[in-house]
Amino acid sequence: MQNVDVVVAGAGIWGCTVARCLAERGRRVLVLESRSAVGGNVRCESDPDTGIEVHVYGSHIFHTHLDDVWRFVRRFVEFNGYQHKVMARYRGKTYFLPLGLPLVNKFFGVELAPGELPAFMAEGTHRAQIFDAFFRGYTSKQWGRPPEEIDPTIIQRVPVRATYDVNYFNDYNQGIPLTGYNSLFDRMLDHPNIAVECNRAFDLAGHAASPLAGVPVFYSGPIDRLFGYRYGELPWRSLAFERETLDVADFQGTSVVNYTEAEVPYTRIHEFKHYHPEDADSMARAKTVIMREYPRAWKSGDEPYYPVNTPESQSLLERYRAEAAKVKGLTVGGRLGEYRYYDMDQSVGRALAAVESCGVIG
Ligand SMILES: Cc1cc2nc3c(=O)[nH]c(=O)nc-3n(C[C@H](O)[C@H](O)[C@H](O)COP(=O)(O)OP(=O)(O)OC[C@H]3O[C@@H](n4cnc5c(N)ncnc54)[C@H](O)[C@@H]3O)c2cc1C
Repeated sequence: MQNVDVVVAGAGIWGCTVARCLAERGRRVLVLESRSAVGGNVRCESDPDTGIEVHVYGSHIFHTHLDDVWRFVRRFVEFNGYQHKVMARYRGKTYFLPLGLPLVNKFFGVELAPGELPAFMAEGTHRAQIFDAFFRGYTSKQWGRPPEEIDPTIIQRVPVRATYDVNYFNDYNQGIPLTGYNSLFDRMLDHPNIAVECNRAFDLAGHAASPLAGVPVFYSGPIDRLFGYRYGELPWRSLAFERETLDVADFQGTSVVNYTEAEVPYTRIHEFKHYHPEDADSMARAKTVIMREYPRAWKSGDEPYYPVNTPESQSLLERYRAEAAKVKGLTVGGRLGEYRYYDMDQSVGRALAAVESCGVIG
């Protein structure tokens, strides 16, 4: 592309949103992506044997209460009516999450009315028993540490509902793209003002020495890598996935089952065909694809999944942020750039805001 106005480095959902918005404002955008394909961690693969859409980096369900974000993504794809429900498997029995009347009634063999739940949970060891069965083992596996050592807000985020509502998310807008997640990214980047180069990693020194020196950059790769890890590496939790194709129509009857006991080495099993209940042929076919998810300690070079928020990591992040603020024309965003967990809708929302506040479209 000749006469590039803006470089977008990283083609995850944050970078694709930025690129599209800038292109629609008349800017010529060059998108650089270090992987061989766009989409970041929302990228999916079609299983060669079954055609089932596999969420390579773990299950991704689009859910939002942000109307502008919902309007934006639906310009590119139509969403199916999938509503996310998560089951928990504990000592051979299966329970509905989140923590609410179905789980509590089944676990204790009671029949509580909604108004009775708060008092019942506060009684004796009820809360502790629920916590030990459904959250202690899972959280320890997820973070590699007992929950007591973890920021208490992680535990507080567990929703408690005095209802029979087993919808995992509270958001009224939910779904999976009918044509698959990859089509969302392909269509976002399909604009005459956008050129995409995959297998091309952005770095600051290379940019400064290139013919594009001085061109504003929106970067959504790891912030510590951008500065050559000069103050050290930001810590992450990683994941390993084990995929299997089975000769059964339905393995577990739902898309995600959490395994909450510490002794089971994985945290979840994903079964992807359930994300597309509208695909009757796939649902009926005597084959399914499942994926076990194993949390892992992270070491340099591993795929980063969850930032580990500690006072040390936050102070390291501050040092990198200060470096980024010194670079003229640089906007750092996305989950890797901000070193923060964001759902997809938050990533899109933050990208829309970054475009408005960047000065490039002024
Ligand atoms: C296990 C898991 C499950 C999740 N499930 C959900 C869910 O159900 N619903 C939901 O809303 N959200 C979910 N999320 C969050 C979702 O994955 C993120 O919101 C989203 O991936 C953030 O997009 P991003 O563009 O910031 O980052 P990424 O998707 O990581 O994209 C960043 C891109 O930048 C590229 N890159 C990095 N460095 C460079 C460089 N130097 N030059 C060029 N390119 C570079 C990377 O290759 C990557 O493609 C989940 C996250 C995890 C970890």
